[in-house]
Order: sequence, then C-alpha cells, then structure tokens
Amino acid sequence: MKKVNIIMHPLVQHKLTELRKKETSKNHFRQLLREISLLLAYEITNDLSTNEVSIETPLEKFKSLKLSGKKLALISILRAGNGLLDGVLDLIPSARVGFIGLYRDEKTLKPISYYYKVPKNLNTRDVILLDPMLATGNSAIEAVNILKDSGAIKISFLCLLAAPEGISNFHNSHPEVSIVTAAVDRELNDKGYILPGLGDAGDRLYGTK
Ligand code: URA
Repeated sequence: MKKVNIIMHPLVQHKLTELRKKETSKNHFRQLLREISLLLAYEITNDLSTNEVSIETPLEKFKSLKLSGKKLALISILRAGNGLLDGVLDLIPSARVGFIGLYRDEKTLKPISYYYKVPKNLNTRDVILLDPMLATGNSAIEAVNILKDSGAIKISFLCLLAAPEGISNFHNSHPEVSIVTAAVDRELNDKGYILPGLGDAGDRLYGTK
C-alpha cells in the first residue's frame, strides 16, 4: 500500500514554519506542537467508521452519526511522541494510551528499547503510533514490530516531519502502515537529523539541550 499523506492545510504549514524557527521558545514550541497534532489527528482519523443512532434534540427525534464500537489506541514513542500525544488526546479524549520507550544509540543509530506499556486487546483497536520525527525510520520500525508482536493489526503512523530515507526504510519493513505527516524534508545528515528539519524535537520540547 505504501501510503504517505502530507497534510498541506494552511494552518498546519503555518504552525510548522513557526516550529522550525530556531528562535521559537520551548513554551511556544510545545503549544504549537499540541495545536498541530490536533489538526493532524483530524486527518488521520478521517476513515474511522460511524453508525447511526437515534437521539432526541430539544425539538425532535433524529438519526445521527456516532463513532462505532472500534476503539482507538494511541501509542507514543517516548519521549518526543508525548509532544504529539496531548493534542491528539484533546481531540479523542476517550482513546487508550500506551508508551514505547526507545532511544537511539548515537553511534549505530539503532533503537534500544527500555520501556513498554500498552493497552490490552490491541488486535481489536485502531492503533495510531506517534513520533514527531520519522528520521532513519529505525525507531518506528522497531515500535511497529513490538506492536505487531502484541497483536496490533491496523496501525497508522503520525509524525510531523519525515525524511525520504526514513519513509522508504519504514515502508520496506511495514508497507501496509500508512504515514500521515506535515512535511517530507530533503534528507538526513550523517548524525541522523532531518534537514532542514527543526532540530531535536525532544530537546526543543523539554528544554534539555
Ligand atoms: N529526531 C529528532 O528529534 N530530530 C531529527 O532531526 C531526527 C530525529
């Protein structure tokens, strides 16, 4: 399938421009990421199934739509994924939430797992994996491997920026997992950072440079 959906909505692109600027403060960065993730979540959920229910407005009976039974699980790749999580939860407050702790070995750029806690019955849920930066793709690949081992069947990946190398690496391993992103940037540098990018998303979110 190999689907990549780039969200060109003017509000998303405007907020992304602000996020990229090196002078954007930590507080503003966090607020912008929360806002942009809400907009991206709106897009990634546009194929959720609905069914008709009978309700009464103050004036009359009416058949209206509500989300059908299938539940969502939001899985954040620690720690930068949490920057996306808050905005997505603003939109979908009833979603279950899980965390996968992965850090990148700075030499090999391979992901090392240190934490894992996800909702039960992942096989019955639509799973949205969250990480703002799809760089080498190695962390996202490992996270999806772990989720599939836990039974997840329908997975999509939500990020803010993606590198072409990361997309192709990720889709070589998981071609059926669609990607929603605000932009596909030019390339990775030799340290695995996205160019032009926005720097280290975790450091910019949490002020840990
Ligand atoms: N992770 C980040 O936070 N930034 C990059 O550019 C690449 C990976």
